[in-house]
Amino acid sequence: MSENEKSRRIYLSSPTMHGEEQRFVAEAFDTNWVAPLGPNVNGFETEMAAYTGCGYAAALSAGTAAIHLGLKLLGVQRGDVVFVSSLTFSASCNPIVYEGAKPVFIDAEPDTWNMSPGALERAFEKYPNPKAVVVVHLYGTPAKLDEIMEICSRHQVPVLEDAAESLGSTYKGVYTGTFGRIGVYSFNGNKIITTSGGGMLVSKEEALVQEARVLSTQARDAARHYQHSKIGYNYRMSNVVAGIGRGQLLHMDAHKALKNKIYYRYKEAFADMDEISMNPMNPDGDANNWLSCITLKEGCRVTPTAVMDALEAENIESRPIWKPMNLQPVFADCDFFNHNADGISVGEDIFNRGLCLPSDIKNTDADMERIIGIIRGLF
Ligand SMILES: *Cc1c(COP(=O)(O)O)cnc(C)c1O
Repeated sequence: MSENEKSRRIYLSSPTMHGEEQRFVAEAFDTNWVAPLGPNVNGFETEMAAYTGCGYAAALSAGTAAIHLGLKLLGVQRGDVVFVSSLTFSASCNPIVYEGAKPVFIDAEPDTWNMSPGALERAFEKYPNPKAVVVVHLYGTPAKLDEIMEICSRHQVPVLEDAAESLGSTYKGVYTGTFGRIGVYSFNGNKIITTSGGGMLVSKEEALVQEARVLSTQARDAARHYQHSKIGYNYRMSNVVAGIGRGQLLHMDAHKALKNKIYYRYKEAFADMDEISMNPMNPDGDANNWLSCITLKEGCRVTPTAVMDALEAENIESRPIWKPMNLQPVFADCDFFNHNADGISVGEDIFNRGLCLPSDIKNTDADMERIIGIIRGLF
């Protein structure tokens, strides 16, 4: 391998552009649609709705903005309780706090690393009237949606699906993000497709999505002058950014196929090692494999930090598992429901023993061999 090859950084998950993105962006410039509205915004919404079967879609400035507006649309207010997956990125729950509501964290289960239906049931026993339940599909693996949707509908509480990491993943043949009353996608720089930054709020209810569009553009009333009857936000996606999204969406399935190939290459490479397990797949789902993750066997001499350090020494990026929200200093006062009857939670155990491996779809076969060789060399 040349020095040049070696010094090229291997990323966790970096943007992969194809060329069509620039065509849509050039069109925006040529027609002077350089604004938070325009044909690319409308086109991206229509194309996302067609791809996912979500019904209607509102293009926004970030996935976090979409979660925030989603909570508002579900009526979340000061003092309300909102249940949310604990093993996730902070953007899943920060918007709950923006609204003055209280996050109550629900542990993961070991089968999919997503919200534990058992812990969710127990949370309902203590808090019978949460305003909403935010369910995450971690690293692209669909949660146990049948169980979770059944529990939430029995308690008549709406679900907001945080599908920021799981665009393109399906559960029983249906796209994640389309099960909840509201779904959210992210197009941040390292997601499976990206617009540099952006998000989408989706729903089968057109009125909800229309209201999201109104709230995201400062909540103007239908009057000639600037009149406002409620508080709005500046959360709309720009027409330039939406152009990148339209170009990326053309390659969504290709990205998914490549992510899938990375996951199964790792799985095969570590199949003979009882120290290493891959993140689990949901047998009822078809994951986008956004990030491939491993956990190291309990008591293993090699730690996740040692693996990350060994990769970093070779200019290869990896990342810890999201630190669970119930362990975050900022959420120390929030209630938490453990999947296990006692002892360490499932989320904390995965955090302690796991890490995210480089899952960039531009990785070559040689890159994959190198990464695998470095990891195997530690054992
Ligand atoms: C990326 C991400 C978000 C936030 O999306 P942004 O577009 O970065 O605001 C929300 N939830 C999860 C689980 C994410 O991974």
